[in-house]
Amino acid sequence: MKKTKRIAVFFGALFVHLAALAQVDGVIHAGKVLIKPEADALTEQTLVLENGRVSAIYSGYQSVEKLGFEGVKTYDLKAYYVMPGMIDMHVHMTFERDTKTNPHAWLTQDDADYALKAIPYLQKTLDAGFTSVRDLGANYQVIFPLKRAIEKQTIAGPRIFASGNAISATGGHADMHGYRRNVIETMNTSLGICDGADDCQRAVREVIKYGADVIKITATGGVLSNTAAGVNQQLTDDELTAIVQTAHNLGRKVAAHAHGTQGVNAAIRAGVDSIEHGSYLNEESIVLFKKHGTYLVPTLLAGHTVSKEVLNNPNMPKAVADKVRKVAPLMENAFRSALQNNVNIAFGTDSGVSRHGDNAKEAQLMVNYGMTPKQVLVSATRNAAKLLGQETNLGSLEVGKYADIIALKANPENDITALSKVSFVMKNGVVYKHQR
Ligand SMILES: [Zn+2]
Repeated sequence: MKKTKRIAVFFGALFVHLAALAQVDGVIHAGKVLIKPEADALTEQTLVLENGRVSAIYSGYQSVEKLGFEGVKTYDLKAYYVMPGMIDMHVHMTFERDTKTNPHAWLTQDDADYALKAIPYLQKTLDAGFTSVRDLGANYQVIFPLKRAIEKQTIAGPRIFASGNAISATGGHADMHGYRRNVIETMNTSLGICDGADDCQRAVREVIKYGADVIKITATGGVLSNTAAGVNQQLTDDELTAIVQTAHNLGRKVAAHAHGTQGVNAAIRAGVDSIEHGSYLNEESIVLFKKHGTYLVPTLLAGHTVSKEVLNNPNMPKAVADKVRKVAPLMENAFRSALQNNVNIAFGTDSGVSRHGDNAKEAQLMVNYGMTPKQVLVSATRNAAKLLGQETNLGSLEVGKYADIIALKANPENDITALSKVSFVMKNGVVYKHQR
């Protein structure tokens, strides 16, 4: 009897303690809400948000009083379509292509200039409903301080998962091109440049040492590097294997920039977690994607953007323009064949090539190229969360997930352009945008 009483007192105290710890961030009344992206949206639901996460979901509109909370705000989203914050799996937050500026202006700028320039890009991305991004390729001295500033709420921006500098072969897509040798030697951080399996193992360890959440590699040549080196395989099979094994042993996923078929297939065989762009896919690529469960991050918006740019930018270097004309038109077919064969697809734009904040235009291209709006929603939420390895925190609004929540005026399942009209943005239980 005595013992039972003591236990009751203990649990009573624990309950009081937990209640004191719980911080109710708010209550949402949602007219329509997509709790699980692959399931049907529910109508007239109440979401309770505590300590930055979804803590309860009730049918109907429950008042704060009835729920027993004091001084807690109710967000009236009865007229909106509420869904998990979107995730863009391929961005470059530290720059934005501007065809009108001097292409060499970066030589006059410090890391701090880049960090300050990124602040409005981060704000625009968050305002566009993207509450998480995967930044694949940035100077580690710029992107990680930005990530920390967002986590501390010093500046507003999406939750960042970043690679820092990309791993590339000497002279490869992510190496520096187009300047005399002593300029390159002075300006290049060299972080991530490697040759040979052992050296690439070192490079992976080094980028992780400086903060990499994920490893970005340039498995093949790329379109926008100023070198007429094509888009074929640039890291050898041995280098790819060494990179993937080292990254996975250290708990990091590998995102492989890859255009040419041979490089795409070699990267999948080596065990990378995603292929970025994937412009040239053959039947074997599809078989390999399916066998290994590899994700494709299509970045259709990047192809679309540079295809338009090549028509009216006379300053685009010839080496780049030639590759744009050849590669960009192939992206649609590669996407269609991946889609028809049920390859895992995660949403990614390569923003920075296109303008920050325009991320949802990718969704329109995906629908134009054959995806259903529902599939697009899944690709930008659940699939992206899985590819991040964050499925217990992100990608749906089930109880326990982060309170990363957006609201749209129209239903994107009927019209995908609704994703471009975001009225409400909450991240981690904090409201960043609420337009009425
Ligand atoms: Zn990119």
